[in-house]
Amino acid sequence: MSISGDEMDPGDGQEEKIFVTVRVRPLNVKEIAKNDVSDWECVSNNTIIYKNVKALTERSMYPNAYTFDRVYGCDSTTRQVYEEGVKRIALSALNGFNSSVFAYGQTSSGKTYTMTGITQYAISDIFDHINQQDDREFVLKFSAIEIYNECVRDLLSADATPLRLLDDPEKGTIVDKLTEIHLEDWTHLMELLAVCEAQRKIGETSMNEMSSRSHQIIRLTIESSPSEVSGVGSASILAATVNFVDLAGSERASQTNSVGKRLKEGGHINRSLLTLGTVIRKLSKEPNGHIPYRDSKLTRILQNSLGGNAKTAIVCTLSPAHAHLEQSRNTLLFAVCAKEVRTSAQVNVVMSEKVLVKQLQREMARLEHELKNMSGTTNDSEAIIKEKELQIQKMEQEIKELTQERDLARSRLDELLRAAGVDQKSVPWVC
Ligand code: ADP
Repeated sequence: MSISGDEMDPGDGQEEKIFVTVRVRPLNVKEIAKNDVSDWECVSNNTIIYKNVKALTERSMYPNAYTFDRVYGCDSTTRQVYEEGVKRIALSALNGFNSSVFAYGQTSSGKTYTMTGITQYAISDIFDHINQQDDREFVLKFSAIEIYNECVRDLLSADATPLRLLDDPEKGTIVDKLTEIHLEDWTHLMELLAVCEAQRKIGETSMNEMSSRSHQIIRLTIESSPSEVSGVGSASILAATVNFVDLAGSERASQTNSVGKRLKEGGHINRSLLTLGTVIRKLSKEPNGHIPYRDSKLTRILQNSLGGNAKTAIVCTLSPAHAHLEQSRNTLLFAVCAKEVRTSAQVNVVMSEKVLVKQLQREMARLEHELKNMSGTTNDSEAIIKEKELQIQKMEQEIKELTQERDLARSRLDELLRAAGVDQKSVPWVC
């Protein structure tokens, strides 16, 4: 599989908008039991309408139709959501572009359901791509974090101590001491995802028995370099990350009847999500103004994905139920802002120490090889020169001998002429 043609992204450094999709899940058992009805309908592949008849006839402060890059109704599959746009963004990391895929929506709207599928489809495609490429060598590194109560936790470590964020002049915000594991194959991925799942904090709210109270970011770093068979210097060394971001529920804490500890969690979740909302709104309206990325851990870590060097897709998930109308409208409002945000991804020709050492080793091997060839050439030319010198010596000897023979012949001739009494000047060929 090659990432080219219509799967290829806009060029290096070109601005492009965040790819925004909306997905409506089916009514669930509880909603059906309460005789709730579905409020939303996807009338084309990019337009969703609010289909409540009363609302359509009344004047409302909310729009009744919304258009995005793609919209998916309750009978859609995660495979469809992935294939029609998200895939292009996620796989652009194979070509050196940083990329991110987010799921945004209220608790129980289908974020985890959608992101789990997308993450697995994307990584499976990444493995396929790598297996089919023999002109580049790939190294995959896997890491995962959870942001819970504004604390960043390593999902691959049993140590729950919060991790610090550091500002790296080159890489931007980095998570200090984060575990990064060399990802080997599909079985290994499944093991790592299971570890993350077990570590992830799960809380119970009145809206969803297993609703997640935290943000999860699974990050895959893809480094690639030209393989031995591709020849030296035929391509650059690339390094890019792809983030799969499953955000916590976007609803207000008060809506979930949260008390005590839950309220605190809710407050923090809202702080991160409120900042995310503010960042997206500001980026959509005044991208050159002050953007408060630093107001929350989530927006600090995802700064590049939101307005910088990255290609980004956001899947906004909706519950169709009338009971969730207000939340669904808030989600759509977020989606409307998000689709105005522009990022400009660049191919990252970045060298890690390991990659750098590898490249230097190859360069040294090449120079050694060249040097050997050159010394071979030098030996050859020395031999040629020696041979020529011998030839010259031989020729000089011959000239010497010929000169002696000539002088001898000349003196004999002189003698003969003298004996015959011939005047030498009268013989034209004697000089
Ligand atoms: P969230 O992560 O937004 O809290 P989940 O992804 O956990 O929500 O989804 C809540 C429930 O709804 C889960 O039982 C999930 O299997 C189901 N669900 C979500 N989206 C879909 C969908 N598109 N089709 C079928 N079931 C879905």
